[in-house]
Amino acid sequence: MREYFLRNVGVILNSVELFDVSGGKTEWGRRVRELRNQEGMNIVTHNDRSELKPGQYLLISTKPLPFFDRSISKELRSFVLDRNGYTCQMCGIAAGEPHPADNGRKARLHIGHIIDKSMGGKDEANNLKAVCSVCNEGSSNLTLNRPDAIKLLAQIRRAPAGDQLDVLKWVITKFPKQARDILDKLNNSV
Ligand SMILES: [Zn+2]
Repeated sequence: MREYFLRNVGVILNSVELFDVSGGKTEWGRRVRELRNQEGMNIVTHNDRSELKPGQYLLISTKPLPFFDRSISKELRSFVLDRNGYTCQMCGIAAGEPHPADNGRKARLHIGHIIDKSMGGKDEANNLKAVCSVCNEGSSNLTLNRPDAIKLLAQIRRAPAGDQLDVLKWVITKFPKQARDILDKLNNSV
């Protein structure tokens, strides 16, 4: 199954051929999930890409998923996800919710380090947290300020909409260029 995906990078595969590739095993779907969740293969489905139909699978590239880390066991991953309520600890989105910053794709959670491994952080439960793909990609080494950002975002999420808009105005005033770049990026990804 792994080889078949690797031979077909960028090609949309469907459930019928994957069933055949598995030798007609009913658990082929579980094998695909293992490849993605345990081996870090960047396989997407209709949950990730609106252009895919249910039953279609696409290996984006041979590069492993960001932050995928073999040294974190399946058990530790589920423990951290469960403790964090299956919610991104940076932006607060829950797993499977359509992500407004990702073209409405369903949020997928990864395990991230609170203190980055490059700065001595360990693969231990108290140094791990659930982060969505969007936050994961924009934050590779900004680990030192993350705990404050988490608290801030949690407070902003609980604030009334009027206050949130005030925060938005303040941030845009402070970072006009970055705000424009973010909007451009969002518009381009539509
Ligand atoms: Zn997030």
